[in-house]
Amino acid sequence: MTAWDEVVGQPLAVEILREAAASAERVVSGAGAAPGSMTHAWLFTGPPGSGRSVAARAFAAALQCERGGVGCGQCSGCHTVRARTHPDVHLVVPEGLSIAVQEMRSIVLTAARLPVLGRWQVVLIEDADRLTEAASNALLKAVEEPPSRTVFLLCAPSTHPDDVSVTIRSRCRVVSLRAPAPDAVADVLVRRDGIDPTTAEWAAQAAQGHVGRARRLARDAEARERRKAVLSVPAALTDLGACFTAADQLVTAAEQEAAALSAELDGPETEALKQALGAGGTGKGAAAATRGSAGAIKELERRQRSRSTRAQRDALDRALVDLAAFYRDVLVAQCGAAVRPAHPDAISDVRRLARTLTPEGVLHRLDAVLECREALELNVKPRIAVEAMTVTLRLP
Ligand SMILES: [Zn+2]
Repeated sequence: MTAWDEVVGQPLAVEILREAAASAERVVSGAGAAPGSMTHAWLFTGPPGSGRSVAARAFAAALQCERGGVGCGQCSGCHTVRARTHPDVHLVVPEGLSIAVQEMRSIVLTAARLPVLGRWQVVLIEDADRLTEAASNALLKAVEEPPSRTVFLLCAPSTHPDDVSVTIRSRCRVVSLRAPAPDAVADVLVRRDGIDPTTAEWAAQAAQGHVGRARRLARDAEARERRKAVLSVPAALTDLGACFTAADQLVTAAEQEAAALSAELDGPETEALKQALGAGGTGKGAAAATRGSAGAIKELERRQRSRSTRAQRDALDRALVDLAAFYRDVLVAQCGAAVRPAHPDAISDVRRLARTLTPEGVLHRLDAVLECREALELNVKPRIAVEAMTVTLRLP
């Protein structure tokens, strides 16, 4: 398996990146680069689940590949990038709502050094759209005058100024990915994850081109249950009371999902930090150390809260994407189009709503779901946004 096999359904992007990695290899071997093909800053864009960070990581592997920049998938360069232990590949993965300036400054400092293993110093920033303005400025300075062997790989949903500042964007070469076709997703689930073909095909269709979500649906019974609960919402909204109940269930489910994640991660993290800070020390200066460590623990707790808020939003967003696809299926049923439904297992509810609602009514509801997504992105309180939505989704 080569480094590129993970990049699902993106032949064009892979071609561009392979060529750039080959050109980068000529720099490493001292043969000089072909003009235009390798550059120091890259921006990977595409819808959620299209594999932005996967493509960026495959490119990082190719840059570090010991067999001449091909991304063979076998050498220790390729392996360590994949395992996230390569000393010259620095991952910035925001767990919370934003990437702070301190984190970016320290990354920029690291990036200025020469690569330990002599190839490339790679900085890979997932969710570059979460850079704070100050962090973005710190990064811009480095991107403007990159050290000769440093490569920045940024991932963001789009090149829109809301996602990436215009000045950073103008210095990056853009690689745009698209949502992979369900067949390509199913294929990778079978090949890489050993999932049986029938389940893989169903999960790929239900996840609508989101590779990670498809894998979760195929493997995790709880994720399947949550999806089922979401898809039962539209047909249940027969009166106002049902609308409020459904809103409560949607928000509570997202809260529980985030709480489960926090329960798993927070405790061990806090414990590890306390150990690192030498909790329980009694020597000279222990009092001063305690004061310092209280600050560090507070900072960790702040990050954990921010991560939990993000997890809650992500969970709710997944539910809304499923709902939007449900109403799309209703429209498809109404116009009798020969399009595969996103949710074949909800087809009886879909058909019922196709008879009950007018096409205008369906579009109106689809808009309500999309407006709710936007409201959440703009920090409207989840309960308020979701209630406004379910009330609009109420059946006549
Ligand atoms: Zn390799």
